[in-house]
Amino acid sequence: MVGSVNADLVVGVDRWPGPGETVLGSDLATHPGGKGANQAVAAARLGGRVALLGRIGGDGHGDLLRGSLADAGVDLAHLLVTDAPTGVALITVGPDGDNTIIVSPGANAHLSEDDVAAARDLLAGATVVSFQLEVPRPTVLAAARTAAGGGARVVLNLSPAALVPDELLGLCDPLVVNEHEAAFLLPDHSAEDDPAALAAALRERGPRSVVITLGADGALVATGEETQVVPSPKVNPVDTTGAGDAFTAALCLRLARGDDLVTAARFAVRVGAAAVRKAGAQSSYPTGVDELPG
Ligand code: ATP
Repeated sequence: MVGSVNADLVVGVDRWPGPGETVLGSDLATHPGGKGANQAVAAARLGGRVALLGRIGGDGHGDLLRGSLADAGVDLAHLLVTDAPTGVALITVGPDGDNTIIVSPGANAHLSEDDVAAARDLLAGATVVSFQLEVPRPTVLAAARTAAGGGARVVLNLSPAALVPDELLGLCDPLVVNEHEAAFLLPDHSAEDDPAALAAALRERGPRSVVITLGADGALVATGEETQVVPSPKVNPVDTTGAGDAFTAALCLRLARGDDLVTAARFAVRVGAAAVRKAGAQSSYPTGVDELPG
C-alpha cells in the first residue's frame, strides 16, 4: 500500500455553524484512518502480507496510527516520520448522519519521489501495489512506475477524485472508482449513466481493467474480455465510512493470491458489505473470512 495515514477527528453536531458562528458538539472521537492506512489494515486483517509506504508526524496521532497498523500486522519499515503534523480528517456528523470532512494532509504531503526511490525494492518486489490520491500525485506516478517496472500489478483507487496523467491510468489493472469518480474522469458523462458505459469509456482512457463500485448494488468489473456486475450481499447498513477502502484492500489481497478480477471482486463485495455493518472505518473491518456475509 502506498498512501495516506490520517487521524479521523469526529464530532457530532445538531447543525453546522455558519461563518463566524460557534456551535457546541459532542465529545471528540479520534479514530485511525486515511485511505492508505485503512487499506493496509483491511488487507492485513484478512491475512495478507502487507507493507505500507507513507508518512506520519512525530506526534500522538502518529503513535495512534502506528499502533493500529502494527496491531493488524502491517510491515512498517517504510512508514516514515516527518517534521510535520500527522494528517487529520476533521469530520462533523449531523443529526441525519450527513457529514462534512476537511482533510489536512500534514505529513502525507511530504511523501516524496525520494521516498519512492528508497522503497524501490519493496515496490518492485511486491505482487500488487495499491494507490489512492491522498498523497502527492507525482509520488503516486513515480511509485506506480517503479512497481509496474518490477512486475507488480498496479491498482489505483481514484479517491478523492482528481485528474491524473494518462501514463498513470495506463498502468492500472484495475482502476477502481465509484460512480462519481468515474463521471469526474469523463466530462461527457454523469454518475447517472449506465455503469457499463462508464466503464467502457474509462477503459478507453488506458487502464487494462476497470472496477466501478456501486454501493449496495456491488461492483461492476470490466476487463477486455468481459463486463459484469458482481452483486453485494444484502446487509443492514450502519455506516458506509471506509467501505470503499475495505473493498479495494480485499480486491488487492485476492489478486495477489492469483484470483482473476471477477473472482477477486466476488470476495471484495463481501468485505465491503461487512464494513458497512459496523460504525467507523478500521473499526468495522472484518478480522477473518468467517465474519463475511454472503
Ligand atoms: P466510501 O467512500 O464510503 O468508502 P465508496 O463510494 O468508495 O465508499 P461504495 O461503492 O459505496 O464505495 O462501496 C464499496 C463497496 O462496499 C461496494 O462495492 C459494496 O461491496 C460495499 N457496500 C457499500 N455499501 C453497501 C451497502 N449498503 N450494502 C452492501 N454492501 C455495500
